[in-house]
Amino acid sequence: MNRIYFDHNATTPVLPEVFEAMVPFLKDQWGNPSSIHWAGRGTKKAVEDGREKVCALLNCTPPELIFTSSGTEGDNHAIKGLVYARRDKGNHIITTRVEHPAVLNTCKHLAKEGFEVTYLDVDNDGLIDLEALKKAITPKTILITVMFANNETGVLFPIEEIGAIARERGVAFHTDAVQAAGKYPIDLQKLPVDLLTISGHKLYAPKGVGALYARRGVRLAPLIHGGHHERNRRGGTENVAGIAGMGVAAEIAARDMVKETAHLTTLRDRIEAGFKARVEHIKVNGHPEKRLANTSNISFEFVEGESLLLNLDMKGIAASSGSACTSGSLEPSHVLIAMGLSHEMSHGSVRFSLGKSNTVEEIDYLLEIMPPIVERMRSMSPLYAGAK
Ligand SMILES: *Cc1c(COP(=O)(O)O)cnc(C)c1O
Repeated sequence: MNRIYFDHNATTPVLPEVFEAMVPFLKDQWGNPSSIHWAGRGTKKAVEDGREKVCALLNCTPPELIFTSSGTEGDNHAIKGLVYARRDKGNHIITTRVEHPAVLNTCKHLAKEGFEVTYLDVDNDGLIDLEALKKAITPKTILITVMFANNETGVLFPIEEIGAIARERGVAFHTDAVQAAGKYPIDLQKLPVDLLTISGHKLYAPKGVGALYARRGVRLAPLIHGGHHERNRRGGTENVAGIAGMGVAAEIAARDMVKETAHLTTLRDRIEAGFKARVEHIKVNGHPEKRLANTSNISFEFVEGESLLLNLDMKGIAASSGSACTSGSLEPSHVLIAMGLSHEMSHGSVRFSLGKSNTVEEIDYLLEIMPPIVERMRSMSPLYAGAK
């Protein structure tokens, strides 16, 4: 059976070059990077090389980058670390309804500790109203956290504008850039961003490594207390192999970004045009232009998304519905609901998230096998019979 992977926003395969870069640190070079003797010197250098490469992708300086274990840890550290450090200045946080659970549930937790959280609405395209953001800022606001690109729809937020508003009002700005990093240019010399989270396994590095950028001068309370690692900001002996791998992945992402974006745009447009020509009653979710090149989220009316995915899986095609974290539960996607979709349309949505290895042939196979599946499922729906 063909095995086709259209779920790169959930995780990506480890690139061969990334794997090769990691091997030495799982074999002969096992020293502790904090050791001052011969065993630690090579691994210390590997951590600093990895840091420089990740910094080059983001255009920031090495002292501003903290390695973490995941995007989730980076989001927790940025948000909790900032609000705990600025507690004496206020207790108000502004975010959106469409953030990843790593941000939403961190904010929910902080609300229990007495912080106040404003969740900004999004419009049908999945974007926030900047006037509403300005109005939400109060003298107690200490942090704005808005994602760079949405994981379910690929929608790109106006980070430069949001950052300018935050800066003008003296509020710190964090962005979860886990989906954007490696797919979309990020220049921290230009962007007015104070804190930014990325994750290795969303950009062809392994799971278990991520990074948090904290602009020079932005103080954070530590999340993990321990030794003097990461300039006293994150205790724990470094994941040397993971960091070496993430460095190479960042280097490749920067090198290939223009070429990859063109490739992914072609494939994504082929999926969307193909379905529009072959299947009635569908809706492409998210702003038509302000979107990542690799992500296509489509609602198939009168169809249950989960069953659709199982049918695709039987044909070897991996895609997802809602976010990976909510699939398995029957809750509709909080992102699509916030964008104004009905429960039915949210339940019938499928996310195709493309990556490096996908081909035109794979898209054509999807477009060949999926319309009959949708038709068969609809033929069993009483609602569809009514709509025809
Ligand atoms: C995957 C993801 C995360 C979490 O990253 P992990 O490394 O899996 O913990 C956070 N935010 C967004 C937008 C994501 O897509």
